[in-house]
Amino acid sequence: MNQDVHSEPQRTLSSVLMAASLRADQWRHLNASARAWADARPDAAAKHRARCQEQLDEVLRIEHCWAYPGERLLGALREALDQGDAASFARYAQKISAAILSGDYRRDEQVWSLDDELDRTTLDALPPDIGGLADKPYFEVLVVTPSDPAQWARSKDEMRRMRRPEDQFHYAAVHAGSFEDAALAMMVNTDLQAVVLIDGFGFASRHDVPDLKAFIARHIHVDPDELRPGTLALTLAATIKGYRPELDLYLLSDRAPEALAGSDEAAPLRRVFHHVEEPMEIHLSILDGIKDRYETPYFDNLKKYALRPIGTFHALPIARGKSIFGSNWIRDMGHFYGTNILFAESSATTGGLDSLLEPTGNIKKAQEAVARAFGAKRAYLGTNGTSTSNKIVVQAVCKPGDIVIVDRNCHKSHHYGFVLSGAQPYYVEAFPLTQYSMYGAVPLRTIKQALIDCAAAGNLSRVKVIDMTNCTFDGHMYNPRRVMEECLAIKPDLIFLWDEAWFGFARFNPLHRRRTAMGAAAALTQRYRSRAYREEYDAWKAKLGDRDPADASLIDERGLPDPDKVRIRVYQTNSTHKSMSAFRQGSMMLVWDEDFHQVEGPFEEAFFAHTSTSPNLQLIASLDLARRQMELEGYALTLKMTDLALKIRRAVNTHPLISKYFTVATPEDMIPAEYRESGLTDYGPPNASWAESAEAWDLDEFALDPTRLTLICGAAGFDGTQFKGLLAERFDIQINKTSRNSVLVQTNINNTHSDAALLIKALADLSREIESRLSQEGSIGHQVFADRVKSLMTDVPDLPNFSRFHDAFREDPNSASNEGHMRPAFFMAYDEDNCEYVKLASDEVDKRLRDGPDMVSANFVIPYPPGFPIMVPGQVITADTIAFMRKLDVKEIHGYHAAQGIKLIKPSTLGSRRATSM
Ligand SMILES: *Cc1c(COP(=O)(O)O)cnc(C)c1O
Repeated sequence: MNQDVHSEPQRTLSSVLMAASLRADQWRHLNASARAWADARPDAAAKHRARCQEQLDEVLRIEHCWAYPGERLLGALREALDQGDAASFARYAQKISAAILSGDYRRDEQVWSLDDELDRTTLDALPPDIGGLADKPYFEVLVVTPSDPAQWARSKDEMRRMRRPEDQFHYAAVHAGSFEDAALAMMVNTDLQAVVLIDGFGFASRHDVPDLKAFIARHIHVDPDELRPGTLALTLAATIKGYRPELDLYLLSDRAPEALAGSDEAAPLRRVFHHVEEPMEIHLSILDGIKDRYETPYFDNLKKYALRPIGTFHALPIARGKSIFGSNWIRDMGHFYGTNILFAESSATTGGLDSLLEPTGNIKKAQEAVARAFGAKRAYLGTNGTSTSNKIVVQAVCKPGDIVIVDRNCHKSHHYGFVLSGAQPYYVEAFPLTQYSMYGAVPLRTIKQALIDCAAAGNLSRVKVIDMTNCTFDGHMYNPRRVMEECLAIKPDLIFLWDEAWFGFARFNPLHRRRTAMGAAAALTQRYRSRAYREEYDAWKAKLGDRDPADASLIDERGLPDPDKVRIRVYQTNSTHKSMSAFRQGSMMLVWDEDFHQVEGPFEEAFFAHTSTSPNLQLIASLDLARRQMELEGYALTLKMTDLALKIRRAVNTHPLISKYFTVATPEDMIPAEYRESGLTDYGPPNASWAESAEAWDLDEFALDPTRLTLICGAAGFDGTQFKGLLAERFDIQINKTSRNSVLVQTNINNTHSDAALLIKALADLSREIESRLSQEGSIGHQVFADRVKSLMTDVPDLPNFSRFHDAFREDPNSASNEGHMRPAFFMAYDEDNCEYVKLASDEVDKRLRDGPDMVSANFVIPYPPGFPIMVPGQVITADTIAFMRKLDVKEIHGYHAAQGIKLIKPSTLGSRRATSM
């Protein structure tokens, strides 16, 4: 394999994503060069030394962002170089690079010292009995200070001396002398968990690195000329919070801390100290901050519970393993699952286990921690998957008769939610990607048109919810800020449900966060409260006057909501198990609703209606743990998964052999140009610099999540299902979704470079096989292959749009808006007398399409893939739906049995129904 994912080190820090891998590469190279110098013949030594010098200079450009190796070891390294001492240089380079690559600096005191024996200075700095470091989680603290860099080593030693054996964590400090240096460290150092800001530092970096300054400016938008004097520390605090909200921030100031602490500007700070404060107090505060995130209230208690001797007389025989380890026949169950899971089982809600249905103790605390971590006002844990979370939210916010403008491609849980709640769906269509047999996302114009149509029909007051999937299975990310803003301009109290089943991780990465529901809720709340917005709105209003929501020209207008009327009402659901470390079915519901008092009661009802009275304790615990992980290492993990995805994209699409048969769809392939205003075609050079990609994410209507890779396999002659099977059987690679000519590969927080290499290797092997097979075949073989590729790639079926509800289910058959009563149609099908069947292949179908009467679906018909309903109850079946079904080559079609045919509501039944009854 000549082009694996490790290929060619990136020489420049073009993107924050690359910082970690760039650093590891740099140290690896430096180590190799140092060894070469040490082993070199005398006449070649100068050349090797020069190479080392060059590489060390490169390393030192950003090395000040990390605590390890720190000034002392770096100083020794530099001194060895200056003195031409190749042996010492090689020894230090080896030591440092090994510690960085292995992560040993986190647990081994030895690697911090100059000599292999702990040196005197280090020993002096350590209390005698600090021991047990290997077991304590390690992190780094950024100290931003005006003090002389010559003092920093001493300050670090002082901080180390603060360590106590009873501390739960240990940390090392890294110093920065300016706003710019601090911002850079905050972005690239994923070990950081806390920042101590000491008032009085300046803006500009003391390092002369113009490209790094440009890099910082690109990621954070602070204009040094705009800064008011004396506000630098608070501006930095706000900047850090915007970028990495999970970090704890402390301010040391000699201004009156009491006055400062109460101000709005101090909101991002965890604590404000007076300059001369006791250092121990700061040390303890730092540890306390980590503890808040580390604590998993439910899991911690469950562990305690499992250890207690308890006699159980409740209804759960496996609790504490008694029915298992005493059994003659199922003891292997205990051996397989281990004892802990059985000791941690209980049906009690006593013993501090709390109740998911009425949380007052540690589940309540766990939910509060989730809300904090995910940037929501409230959070609810779900143990029945997002399938149920969606039904809960839909039922909580909708009552019979409410209209929901909804992407027809939403997961089926939404559609069932409408049946349950009696809400009327107004189906809107995503843009089609016919060439891959999939849909994209719903254009903003389509959503606005639906609102305008409802207004024209006099129904705007009934439109309650906009319900969309963000991001879609295939990676289409909405611009939720823009969608909500323009919709709220038409109706200021709309509720938004963003199904972020795949996208829960996105909160923890500043790149993805800008496209999340909660990120948008926070941004819009802040925007509408600002004076600047009011001025913007007033000017807009003065120009346009009062707008009629039914005015068709609204569609082309970038509307602004009235700041006095607008309400931020946003709900997000996520399948925590899909992108974070939770057990299957672990799900979360996040709420940012300024009018939640109206919803709280119904929400509770819906939660009761759908939640088991025996929720699984391990699921709840795993949600608690998933939150802990993301709050402490989500930044590192999500950067890494994104970086890995970009590398796979590049490796596949630039590989001379693989790219003949396989490609990963680019943003240009997946998003029509009209929704990519930036013109971005693909990530990374030569197509777009990182800055341009980030800007596209800010502005474009849709952006493609790079971690979701649509791998086109049709050009290799495989259909999606076939290729999925092949990857699983031959290469042990599991993927999840397929289309006619593609499979979806996703990178996740668990993926490594080796996983990526495995995939690339599989694609290379398969490409070679195809090549060799074709080379041995004659023209007939080539023709067969070409026909197969054509059938997969070109002869693709058109995707059927939602047609309409039958008039029997419409309040006003003449209105432009298309909502309908799905619930009565759904329940009509319960009575077989109301229904009839037609065979898909029969002439009867064609005759009825031609001559009527209308065929009206009695139920949901959902083929997998693509997994969205091509028919819903009460929908009139049209020719394109039939054509699509006839071409469909998948086996699993929920709601359709080939032997019986399509289930329809009889025309006579429809005739006798009065549309307005529910
Ligand atoms: C998977 C998924 C769901 C359902 O979530 P589960 O946790 O599997 O129940 C809902 N919506 C979307 C968009 C999904 O991808």
